[in-house]
Amino acid sequence: MNLTKNQFKEDYVKRLTLTFAQTTTEASLEHKYLALGKLIRDYISESWAETNNYYTKKKCKQIYYFSMEFLLGRLLNSYLLNLNIRDVVKDGLRDLGIDLDTLLELEPDPALGNGGLGRLAACFMDSLASLGFPGHGCGIRFKHGLFNQKIINGYQKELLNNWLKEDFLWEIKKPEKTVTVRFGGVVNLVNTPNGIEPVYSGCEEIDAVPYDIPILGSNMETVNTLRLFSAELPEEEIDLNGLQKGDYQKFIDKKFAVEAISQILYPDDSSFQGKLLRLKQEYFFVSAGLQTILKRYKKLKESIHKFSDFVGIHINDTHPAIAVGELMRLLLDEEGLDWDSAWDITVKTLAYTNHTILAEAMEKWPYDMFKKTVPRILMIIEEIDRRFCEEVSKKYEEDYSKIDSMRIIYNGEVRMANLAIIGSHSINGVAKIHTEILKNRELHDFYLLYPERFNNKTNGITHRRWLKNANPELYKLVIEKSGPECLNDTNKFINFLKYINDDNVLQTLDKIKFKNKEKVVAFVKNKYNIDINPFSIFDVQVKRLHGYKRQLLNVFNIIYLYNQLKQNPELDIVPRTFFFGAKAAPSYYLAKNIIKLINSVANVINNDPDIRNKIKVVFLENYGVSIAELIIPAGDVSEQISTASKEASGTGNMKFMMNGAVTLATLDGANVEIYDEVGDNNIVIFGLTSQEVMDLEKNRTYNFRDILNSNPDLQKILTQLSDGTFSENKEEFKDILNHIYGEGDPYFVLKDFSAYVEAQNKINTLYENRRGWLQMCLVNIAHSGKFSSDNSIRKYAEDIWHIKEVKRGE
Ligand SMILES: *Cc1c(COP(=O)(O)O)cnc(C)c1O
Repeated sequence: MNLTKNQFKEDYVKRLTLTFAQTTTEASLEHKYLALGKLIRDYISESWAETNNYYTKKKCKQIYYFSMEFLLGRLLNSYLLNLNIRDVVKDGLRDLGIDLDTLLELEPDPALGNGGLGRLAACFMDSLASLGFPGHGCGIRFKHGLFNQKIINGYQKELLNNWLKEDFLWEIKKPEKTVTVRFGGVVNLVNTPNGIEPVYSGCEEIDAVPYDIPILGSNMETVNTLRLFSAELPEEEIDLNGLQKGDYQKFIDKKFAVEAISQILYPDDSSFQGKLLRLKQEYFFVSAGLQTILKRYKKLKESIHKFSDFVGIHINDTHPAIAVGELMRLLLDEEGLDWDSAWDITVKTLAYTNHTILAEAMEKWPYDMFKKTVPRILMIIEEIDRRFCEEVSKKYEEDYSKIDSMRIIYNGEVRMANLAIIGSHSINGVAKIHTEILKNRELHDFYLLYPERFNNKTNGITHRRWLKNANPELYKLVIEKSGPECLNDTNKFINFLKYINDDNVLQTLDKIKFKNKEKVVAFVKNKYNIDINPFSIFDVQVKRLHGYKRQLLNVFNIIYLYNQLKQNPELDIVPRTFFFGAKAAPSYYLAKNIIKLINSVANVINNDPDIRNKIKVVFLENYGVSIAELIIPAGDVSEQISTASKEASGTGNMKFMMNGAVTLATLDGANVEIYDEVGDNNIVIFGLTSQEVMDLEKNRTYNFRDILNSNPDLQKILTQLSDGTFSENKEEFKDILNHIYGEGDPYFVLKDFSAYVEAQNKINTLYENRRGWLQMCLVNIAHSGKFSSDNSIRKYAEDIWHIKEVKRGE
């Protein structure tokens, strides 16, 4: 937008005075921040209304991205950047004696997601708007997001996240757009003159109240909408519940039960628990979202049969898969369509992204729970299942095992992935290797049945948040050197390669990285009173804590290094700081035990004078988008060391690459594609391949004892977990020991250990050659444009959604 500094200053002072009846000198920092936020919101509002009107007027096909999670991070700086007024605002505030960066730190970070899946949804929102696609988000306005993590005596403690304690600046409540969502009760199908109709009795009816957040594109004209629903008790219920009779307790209980639905985000990443409340959350936002979309569609005055020409709905993992049943319900029961028409529309409208092959993450609801909670949806799903079996038996005759593997309701459970696949016209994996595993193994039967539905869409990250916002100096350098064509097409980052032998550019890269590292040094000193060396290698593993991500392998190498240095304090290694950041699901004991181990090891190493500060270990509490924005630009080594075949894509890997880190990785998920881009010389690969892992799992031939017996270093490490080296309590690490000795090392930590140590040595050698290292960084940055979510979204738009960029001027 066009904004002069003087105009901004005038607007800002006015906003501050009108809102808080204070001058800029009197106002508190908090009020200064709020006034800025409100002003920026004003700036966005006009385009927001215009975008919506335009979409309706031109009847553009709209995409709705249904996701349980949107891990947005702070928004103010993104808005400033996308409005292209950050510099003006910064200068204007400085004139008024206010520091923009201080105000930005005051914004709460809404943590409405667990990790990669929710962050992907947020990156996709940004890319959709920035490219000018009519695409919106639909999810839940959790009152409490992902817990805040505190580390106390090395243990993770979970604190309630209360991001709504102060008003959230960016949302607008739309009570007039409330819809009703129905749960439970009994449904009977009765014959009426209009055909068979469902009659409900004894249901619970809940209000779904939308809160809209503007998603502002960097194209400076598109403002799409992220709509999050909050569960509320309908107003009429308040009287009915006996307030007049003085029955307050009943009312309070009821209100509590209803609001519980959007109270809290489940903190489990990559694992599934069949909890009733979770099922209610899923149906709640899916039903609310679909009803809203249908209402809006009615305004277009188009035939319901053309629904999929105007609407596309995307199911982000199986959490919203119940949309298959709910869309059918709306088309059958509310719109009065016949089954075949409704089914045709449903399949054409829906598309599904699979995010995992981990068995423990697969959503399978107990049949009885499903039936009690959403009886009408279960009826419909049973009919979908019956018809599916009929269709498949025609094809496969008596091959019951094939039918059993694919049908939706089986063994007393409702399988959501099967429902999503059968009810969608497109099924995509999130990295090439992941899609191949789906096609050839996990979903092979479905692939044979519907080969045309399967496709790959490799994940991406928005370079606007992860480079321009998080690492502005590097962004400036890349744009300056690679040309303005980069602004609209990150693939042109590749022009940066021209500077591979330019010592000035390499030195600049070095300086930028160093400055970013100094910021982290100051942060760590201030927060943890740990001194770290900005000249050390910053070796970073930040992501959710999970067995398959193998933080344990990383720690084992650190212990190994420690043992080496104890034996030989003269050992010549490049100083290293190992950073971890990771939340563990509160009931995931192994993960929490690994956090304790990291902190115990850190405590011993950081305080051992023999180590002479050659290595340090830092655990960054409460990993989330804000911490990611701090640490990723400072990373030298990006740890992407999951057991091959287990990480569907990963997106942290892409963020580090874009910020000029060298990846240390297994050939898993999108690491494979990073490897293909940068080539053997610019990445360090180690360990089992996914084929090898899958073979070992299939043959059950892996025995960790074979490895242990032949590796005294490993033996020593495992002994140290119970001999008092890292904890006076010798039982302290029993979950980890049980993971190895009891479960037999299911993620092949011991198997990959020596390859990992060797890879780490290689990193050491590579880093010692400063120029060579900087060249590797440059190559990584140059190739990282491929992983912008703009590229992913363009492919979704073309192959799955069939939508075009909207240019309002035309
Ligand atoms: C990118 C991101 C993730 C995903 O990281 P992976 O390494 O791909 O697991 C998780 N959490 C946050 C806060 C992120 O920004």
